Amino acid sequence: MRVVTWGFGAMGRGIAKNVVESKCMKLVGVIDKNPEFIGKDVGELLGLETYGTRVRDSIDVIEETNPDIVVIATSSFVRDVLPQIEYAVKNHANVITIAEEMAFPFNVYPQESAYMDSLAKRYGVTILGTGVNPGFVLDTLIIALTGVCTKVDKIVARRINDLSPFGKTVMETQGVGTTPEKFEMGLKEGTIVGHIGFLQSIGMISRAIGWNVTKIEEERKPIISNVYRETPVVKVQPGMVAGCNHSAKAYAGEKCVIELYHPQQIHPHLEGVETGDYIEIHGDININLSIKPEIPGGKATIAIATNMIPIVVEAHPGLKCMADLPVPRSILSEIR
Ligand code: NAD
Repeated sequence: MRVVTWGFGAMGRGIAKNVVESKCMKLVGVIDKNPEFIGKDVGELLGLETYGTRVRDSIDVIEETNPDIVVIATSSFVRDVLPQIEYAVKNHANVITIAEEMAFPFNVYPQESAYMDSLAKRYGVTILGTGVNPGFVLDTLIIALTGVCTKVDKIVARRINDLSPFGKTVMETQGVGTTPEKFEMGLKEGTIVGHIGFLQSIGMISRAIGWNVTKIEEERKPIISNVYRETPVVKVQPGMVAGCNHSAKAYAGEKCVIELYHPQQIHPHLEGVETGDYIEIHGDININLSIKPEIPGGKATIAIATNMIPIVVEAHPGLKCMADLPVPRSILSEIR
């Protein structure tokens, strides 16, 4: 499979490395606008041998290399990735994007979703939004667990995670490194959004199990640090914001049917916070799943975006979500 990666940041670089190191895929092009990468050999940038493919800041890469699939890791938002998806599809390439809003765009962007679906069908390709979350922990995994229940009354899930491996884009949208005052201002102005994905995860779960969600309430609070914290892209002094405590409740009429909690911060262990993923399904049987520590966000996003490549290449054309496709599985595991 011929692969182009669009976006060579924290996530795109990892996906590119997986492709370079796999036996079944070839990285035929990399697009990024960062001057630090442009013109450099991808293998050398990844700390590997020279690979023969250079990073370019030109969409022509897609037309010139004729890939089976383009993996887009540039932004969180439909407005940014839609033109990129459109260009890839019009060049007959399948698309995977880790843009959070693309994990289940059907409810929030119905017109854009209908357009992408019809475009994908016209060109005979598949478009998928995926990632660790949205894309797996608070939706696909929950949906899979409901598969052993006859009836489900309520779902409560928590993802308490470490944001440290993520790049600049994620830090900015979570408000990491700002002051509490700037955090509140950022929420009002829409520059700080917390977790992008609750509407998508709730949409995917409710469509999968047939719930008519009538109202969704969200709450975002700053996690203020008492200690100094640092990652390669952000520094947080005591008194500044280390993350965002974001939650969502979904109602069917008066009944709260889904509660999702997602406090995200850099280096939570520095203040004794243990990370983990916890899912409770209440129904004819009760299920309690506990994963400690949490599924690591950066590595898992890189893995699931890579693992979905063959599934997406072989899927029926159209705009899909994770619940529409076969169960994800590791494709690069080698038993020696
Ligand atoms: P990052 O900031 O490290 O990297 C983004 C890269 O894209 C940068 O190198 C930037 O130069 C490049 N880029 C942006 N716009 C471009 C354009 N128009 N043309 C060419 N290059 C462009 O971010 P990241 O940590 O790699 O994450 C990428 C995106 O994926 C973020 O929006 C993040 O929120 C999202 N994400 C989603 C999930 C999920 O679970 N769904 C998980 C991780 C990251």
